Amino acid sequence: MMPTRPVWAEISRSGLLNNWKLLRSAVHNEADVMAVVKADAYGHNAVACAPLLERAGAKWFGVTCVTEAVALRKVCPDARILVMSGLWGGEAGAIIEHRLAPQVWEPFHFDLLEKAALALGLGPRSVAIHLEIDTGMSRQGVRSFDELEKLLARCSAESPILVEGVMTHFSAPEVLEPDETQSQIARFTTALDVVAKQGHHPVWIHAGNSATAFVPQHLETLKKLAQKHSARLMLRPGLALYGYSPRFTPHSRDAMNRELKPVLAWKTRIVSIRTIEAGESAGYNMTFRASRRTTLALIPVGYADGLNRLLSNCGSALVRGKKVPIAGRVSMDQTILDVTDIPQVEIGDEVVLIGEQGGECITAYDLADATGTIPYEVTCAINARVPRLLVD
Ligand SMILES: *Cc1c(COP(=O)(O)O)cnc(C)c1O
Repeated sequence: MMPTRPVWAEISRSGLLNNWKLLRSAVHNEADVMAVVKADAYGHNAVACAPLLERAGAKWFGVTCVTEAVALRKVCPDARILVMSGLWGGEAGAIIEHRLAPQVWEPFHFDLLEKAALALGLGPRSVAIHLEIDTGMSRQGVRSFDELEKLLARCSAESPILVEGVMTHFSAPEVLEPDETQSQIARFTTALDVVAKQGHHPVWIHAGNSATAFVPQHLETLKKLAQKHSARLMLRPGLALYGYSPRFTPHSRDAMNRELKPVLAWKTRIVSIRTIEAGESAGYNMTFRASRRTTLALIPVGYADGLNRLLSNCGSALVRGKKVPIAGRVSMDQTILDVTDIPQVEIGDEVVLIGEQGGECITAYDLADATGTIPYEVTCAINARVPRLLVD
């Protein structure tokens, strides 16, 4: 049964396609763009978004794990899918069966893939991998060039493994001063020389996320690097696809990204209204105390839906085109709004938690700033029980 509770997230097709086109033009069509749809497309519903992007020209998708990849494979039978968090025991068979490209760096990743390929009787160079280089993020990837040489030596002409891609991840691509990304690119450059020296010629060299698409000097250096190795450059944006611009420091490039359109709007409706007198309280632990006769509206959304409890007494929502404050604690499944200043308020009125209404707007950045986090976490946190509906 479709959820009937009046809480939903609208996913804008036109917004997503607008952002995709903007990213394509930011790289001047000289680099390929992988659409990062990990974590269910940052909460936007990967199986709804990916086919739209594919029709707009996306050839590559980045997901977190094999489970996400297999779900995506059902709706994008021809797409290339990068599994970005390595692989674990028992997953190599599915990687081969579903033609996934795993991002790998640990010797045990190679063990698993070799063993599965052998069991299936696959020939040489039949399993494409993307080798990750740790250039400074210290999270995933091959760290030493010694280790890199050892891994590459396992990918001989007889091996079932083909080095289709070599990639790295930047830790602060939106920080332009000091420009740590340049030193990461320098390390990547050396690693790629090692790869070439051992006779491997990756089809793709990829690095950079949303921020990199809007930093011409990084884009230029990466383009030259790919050219040097006769490879295609690919970028891997996620956040910008969903309409949020990285926050650059110093704040020099924000104008560039104002055309990005937030894709997700989070909405609900007022399900109950009551009036309390001055001095009465609302919600758990009486943290909201009315200073005047106060009209309270109830919305059926709480922290179990992903509305952060840190928004208690500090977040807001839009009702009849006006910003109204959250009154008291956000509960598990419900939240109270102070709608005293909206005289016409009625049960059934639409409430916007993220999105626009009557010229007012609340963004995932607003919620992130109020809760000490980043917009990524805000949209990812919207629980699966909130249905995602494709609109426009
Ligand atoms: C999440 C992720 C991206 C996308 O980053 P955005 O900041 O959302 O553009 C790119 N590459 C890797 C390896 C990632 O983990």
